[in-house]
Amino acid sequence: MTARCPVCEAAGPPRPVPARVGGARLGCAACGAAWLPGAPSGEEAAGLYGEAYFRGGEGAPLGYRDYEDDAALVRAQARARLRAIGGRQPPPGALLEVGCATGLLLDEARARGWAVGGVEVSPWAAARAEARLGPGTVVRGALGEVDLPAAAYDVAVADDVIEHLADPVAGLRALRRALRPGGLLALQTPAVGGLLHRASGAGWFHFKADHPVLLTPEALGLALRRAGFAAVELRPAARRVDLAYIASRLGHWSRPAGTLAGATLRRLPGGRRPFPLPTGEVVAFARAT
Ligand SMILES: [Zn+2]
Repeated sequence: MTARCPVCEAAGPPRPVPARVGGARLGCAACGAAWLPGAPSGEEAAGLYGEAYFRGGEGAPLGYRDYEDDAALVRAQARARLRAIGGRQPPPGALLEVGCATGLLLDEARARGWAVGGVEVSPWAAARAEARLGPGTVVRGALGEVDLPAAAYDVAVADDVIEHLADPVAGLRALRRALRPGGLLALQTPAVGGLLHRASGAGWFHFKADHPVLLTPEALGLALRRAGFAAVELRPAARRVDLAYIASRLGHWSRPAGTLAGATLRRLPGGRRPFPLPTGEVVAFARAT
């Protein structure tokens, strides 16, 4: 990646973005996108997303705490997402999830009447998703690099995905081609300038090597329109979390503190009860043209 903004292509001098972890970032003076020059993306980065990424523990600082252990939380989040999607585009129809991980949202979607398909870059997670959903349901690969059938889906979901792409506009174009004209895209991504970024500054946990481009809501809207989406709706996200999950995030600053607090809260009544928390991420809904 060069100094040219990967979102709006402004060639003006980028400004440094204070980030203590994940490498030195550049920020676009025009749209606010914050990117990591030279970061791996797509298939190049697939090696990052092995079992350790999803299961946490020592030597796996990039990814989830424990995706399978947090399945109830992931399902609660998925049900909230599917309610929001169904309010704009009710089932039945064909729903694609890119970054489907082990297939929990797709499993919930199928139970609500959607025909489902998934794309997942992690070989470990893709195999688990296909075991859950059936043969032929999941394509392993990176958005923008896998072949998706054109105009085949009524809905595409891409939560926590575009921050992993060095070229988010190209990834969004691939989603637009996979949607039928008028089809609905639903995505969620961390927001530069959002609540947690403002609270944690240079120590924001989304500043990490596998998040090459982080967007402001303005940059996300721009990226969507450049990729051929219309009727763009942006809103602050509320993510389903529980106290044990929040505690595990303390491990980003202090691993012993996070481990202790997480282990304690998991045993408490209510420590694993999901509730919505505004996390300073952004949700977008948009229609393919
Ligand atoms: Zn820009």
